[in-house]
Amino acid sequence: MKDKILIINTGGTIGMVGKPLRPAYNWQEITAEYPILEQFPTDYYQFETLIDSSDATPDFWLYLAQVIENHYDYYLGFVILHGTDTMAYTGSMLSYMLKNLGKPVILTGAQSPMVYPRSDGLQNLINSIYLAGHKLFNIPLIPEVCICFRDTLLRANRSKKTDSNNYYGFSSPNYYPLAELGSEIKVQKDRILPLPEEKFYVDKSLDPDVIMLELFPGMQPKYLKAFFNSDSTIKGLVLKTYGSGNTPTNDEFINTLKYISDKNIPILDVTQCVSGSVKMPLYESTDTLSKMGVMSGSDITSEAAITKLMYLLGKKITLSEIKEAFKNSICGEQSL
Ligand code: ASP
Repeated sequence: MKDKILIINTGGTIGMVGKPLRPAYNWQEITAEYPILEQFPTDYYQFETLIDSSDATPDFWLYLAQVIENHYDYYLGFVILHGTDTMAYTGSMLSYMLKNLGKPVILTGAQSPMVYPRSDGLQNLINSIYLAGHKLFNIPLIPEVCICFRDTLLRANRSKKTDSNNYYGFSSPNYYPLAELGSEIKVQKDRILPLPEEKFYVDKSLDPDVIMLELFPGMQPKYLKAFFNSDSTIKGLVLKTYGSGNTPTNDEFINTLKYISDKNIPILDVTQCVSGSVKMPLYESTDTLSKMGVMSGSDITSEAAITKLMYLLGKKITLSEIKEAFKNSICGEQSL
């Protein structure tokens, strides 16, 4: 193994250069403004097509996981340059796919391109290099998929992009940061997943035939039903509900959920609130859902929920196994 860090550039604002902005051709173009970056022991891998992360797809996740697998044995850790828009989805999916992860995989990006003098990119990138290179910088090893942004290191599957402009772009509303990145890097060891004993591998099962819908007052159940008509291929539904997991209680809505559930389609209840948890059964509405077999998403983020559902459906397990999996955490994505 080399005592080095692999930087994987998938695209996004952080690596944009030029006027008008375009993706950099290579690492040298990115570091041209910041020669300090050449001093770190890194290698660089660039995706053939750099994407705006709003174009991320399951194939993109599979490819990224494959790149990590191919290089896993040779590096101390990985830094992934990624657009901020869907970083929490990519981080969540990677956290499920990278099994027995024993090295840091740090996703980072920027709200403003590194070629701009006030960019947040340089600080985010250097912090990420430190965290991925751990022992080279006297930092504890964090064997997790994380998001490094501004002054915190967050568990990726607990994170959300909560600001489209501010340099504090991400938060982890239901789990404390794994590390604080001030003048010192303070890693909170008790918040970190244990180092696995088994060998690392990539689990590539994934089925994108899912849908996520957010409730709003006045939503017409007939539109929800239309998604699940007789020839639909949708295999799973994440419902973003109100407060502690509440939905309308009228017969039409409840019968529509029953119609979906009778097709053996797993329905997961997650809250649209930024923080807090689904509590089933607290109110009458969640009692009805729970009796119908709707699963509680506890305090999982919607990003971690939809990717977990894709991941579980890809395993071709039974409905009751899926339900069991949502009572448990795969890698720290929800409280039990
Ligand atoms: N739209 C961009 C992306 O997610 C924004 C960013 O890079 O932060 O790729």
